Amino acid sequence: SYGDIRNATDGFSSSNLIGSGSFGTVFKALLPGESNIVAVKVLNMQRRGAMKSFMAECESLKDTRHRNLVRLLTACSSIDFQGNEFKALIYEFMPSGSLDVWLHPEEVEEVHRPLRTLTLLERLNIVIDVASVLDYLHVQCHEPIAHCDLKPSNVLLDSDLTAHVSDFGLARLLLKFDEESFFNQLSSSGVRGTIGYAAPEYGMGGQPSIHGDVYSFGVLLLEVFTGKRPTDELFGGNFTLHNYTKSSLPERVLEIADKSIYHNGLRVGFPISECLTLVLDVGLRCCEDSPSNRLAMSEAVKELISVREKFF
Ligand code: ADP
Repeated sequence: SYGDIRNATDGFSSSNLIGSGSFGTVFKALLPGESNIVAVKVLNMQRRGAMKSFMAECESLKDTRHRNLVRLLTACSSIDFQGNEFKALIYEFMPSGSLDVWLHPEEVEEVHRPLRTLTLLERLNIVIDVASVLDYLHVQCHEPIAHCDLKPSNVLLDSDLTAHVSDFGLARLLLKFDEESFFNQLSSSGVRGTIGYAAPEYGMGGQPSIHGDVYSFGVLLLEVFTGKRPTDELFGGNFTLHNYTKSSLPERVLEIADKSIYHNGLRVGFPISECLTLVLDVGLRCCEDSPSNRLAMSEAVKELISVREKFF
């Protein structure tokens, strides 16, 4: 209830701070009478686009339910102890943090660093989780939803490393989609997804679509198995994948991969190179330039699961 949230939010302090995002600040909190920790995103209503982001998040998540979707427990408006109104979104708390930190631990302070690197199987499980939830959002839920800002920092990990896709601030219910208002929002808030992950057609005035998410998923998959950001040299330094062909990318990945970690759990006699080639091929087919040539998420899920069954 509003009262409970207010009590919980009165306790916000820097020691409970998890991080700051584009539209608000996220705190760890305990709701009165509850034992589960929650994550509370307090929106910065001064930020342009914050209200639209709040509405997009509420609309997208209110009727959706999937094991790989971060659960929005409630959303509320309340008054802080200084009498200022604020809006907050309350989510289940993801103790293992964002995938981005696991992939790039050197970029965060030591206290926030995971104690180890992800194994090949854990990476495979994570991309299968993400692909499954996109398939759900695109074709299985009450109405198709495009996330529009998929990237590793928006994939949160539970204590068992199950992946949960979060941050629906740019998401679109495609049936209600109104092109003009979407692009007004994009230009007024200066947001166009994230460079490197946004599909090429978004930079050319293309409409948000499930195919745009497929592109972002392809980039995410390549990042998960290479540890390189799409803006890194590996991908040409200018967020294009063109410098790498299907045959040269796995070769490059094998050069840079830490094989002792990657090998973990792989069946004897099943070479890691073969496994990576199949997985990366799924990513590359998701990153086709032409939206209609990209793999459907249902296909990506099927292929990734069959790789897991064969090699582990
Ligand atoms: P952004 O808008 O930049 O994507 P967010 O506002 O969504 O960022 O999140 C800010 C920080 O809080 C990020 O570091 C994110 O990993 C963390 N965070 C967000 N939601 C949760 C959650 N439910 N559980 C744990 N950490 C979270």
